[in-house]
Amino acid sequence: MTAKAKYIFVTGGVTSSLGKGIIAASLAKLLQAQGYRVTIQKLDPYINVDPGTLNPYEHGECYVTEDGAETDLDLGHYERFLNRPTSQANNVTTGKIYQSVIQKERRGEFLGKTVQVVPHITNEIKERIQILGKSGDYDIVITEIGGTVGDIESLPYIEAVRQLRWDLGENNGIVIHLTLVPYLSAAGELKTKPTQHSVKTLMESGVQADILVCRTEYDLPKELRRKLALFCNVKEEAVIQSIDASTIYDVPNLMLDEGLDTVVLAKLNLESSKPDIEIWNKFVHRHKNPKTEITIGLIGKYVELQDSYKSILEAFIHAGAENEVKVNVESIHSEYLNSDNTKLKLGHLDGVLVAPGFGERGIDGKIDAVKYVRENNVPFLGICLGMQMAVIEFSRNVLGLVDADSTEMSPNTKYPVINLMEDQKSITDKGGTMRLGAWACDLKLGSKIRDIYKAESISERHRHRYEFNSDFKPQIEAAGLKATGLNPETGLVEIVEIPEHPWFVGVQYHPEYKSTVANPHPLFVAFVKAAYSYKKKKKSASTAQK
Ligand code: GLN
Repeated sequence: MTAKAKYIFVTGGVTSSLGKGIIAASLAKLLQAQGYRVTIQKLDPYINVDPGTLNPYEHGECYVTEDGAETDLDLGHYERFLNRPTSQANNVTTGKIYQSVIQKERRGEFLGKTVQVVPHITNEIKERIQILGKSGDYDIVITEIGGTVGDIESLPYIEAVRQLRWDLGENNGIVIHLTLVPYLSAAGELKTKPTQHSVKTLMESGVQADILVCRTEYDLPKELRRKLALFCNVKEEAVIQSIDASTIYDVPNLMLDEGLDTVVLAKLNLESSKPDIEIWNKFVHRHKNPKTEITIGLIGKYVELQDSYKSILEAFIHAGAENEVKVNVESIHSEYLNSDNTKLKLGHLDGVLVAPGFGERGIDGKIDAVKYVRENNVPFLGICLGMQMAVIEFSRNVLGLVDADSTEMSPNTKYPVINLMEDQKSITDKGGTMRLGAWACDLKLGSKIRDIYKAESISERHRHRYEFNSDFKPQIEAAGLKATGLNPETGLVEIVEIPEHPWFVGVQYHPEYKSTVANPHPLFVAFVKAAYSYKKKKKSASTAQK
């Protein structure tokens, strides 16, 4: 293995949304499968310190790492592909860079110098890029640079890459440029000009791309690859096609077929061998050849935007493959759900997941959904806010605490069954102040959850301010909703379940963040299994009736 880490920078051109994260993760997978220790880092050119305060409409899901960083959703892809945790160091934003430079300036660390983009901001970026490499834990660090070359915001990052390539020396830092080769149907042709321009823009900043990865709807013919190589200053074998795939999980194999890993390793002066991706391929095979299918309702308020619940959707893909079941996820907008239409909108489902969330909008629909699944024995998984809604629904409709609520929605409720955590009460700042990251949880003997995890104690990731109010625990438990997972230090209720119900589980944490291809999450695996059993039962009951 190499003594010093090598660096791969992934930039994007022509347009956003080309899937840099998936290309980075797929390459990382191929390198990891050849025995290299690889990690991926994302640099985001926006001024928010982290995406924790961003609306999911703006930025999709906010992903959470073990050490409690609120990050870009690409980190979820990195973890799902590599089966390795990421950390605070894996996501850097312009906000973080400036915050740290300004703090240094205030401490007088720049000794009276004028603080400038070059070298102070670029030095800070270079330092952040190398934190993971210098840890000694990795042979290769892949750094994905958010945004598109030519953007004002991206400039300091591109400049930092230019400098770093010099600092690192030849064969130690390479640039992969991801571009689009559009197909013009009127002309019946694939066009290389946008790629030529974006490579040129990159060169204006002094950065020569070593490898081009070209997103395309059609196969790139040999002459076109030759043309791109000629105009863009790269070798022909370094023009890699990335054709649209039916699933992101096909991309590692597509990149393998194109030889991306071989070209990369040759450029980095590292040995290449045949990657061992057997486990991966088994998963892809199961994912593509399900024996049966189920439909799960995902009840949330951002459902029109797939990215808002990215990790949940991916966790269903992993759990579906594990069960050899295709999981159709039907997005249901909680704002349009009410007690009159729950049967109509939920009656055909094999399971219901009530999603995480914040604020009042769509809450009533979530509560009505929980009531329906509780009363009709439909498998239910509530995550974070979804679990809190289950507690509220149970308190209102089983215990008869009519106005039971969360103090998040109703600060003066008579029955605050969900309330602000004690250590949150003095916090006024919004950014990075929730209960974040991994916490331990002890599982009650004899509970469903203990059986699911096959463990006495687990650790899961969190992102919330409110909690189950333990003052109501005796009452709620006596009525049949049991607290079956507790934080060992604080006694905080992390899991609730109804033993009388075939499958009713609410968790205060986010299991979806930890589901990976190699390790599908046990809770999702069990939920999918329960939904399939429920579907079979429904079917045999309806045939018996005929
Ligand atoms: N809004 C709730 C809280 O802060 C739930 C958060 C979530 O679902 N992630 O506790």
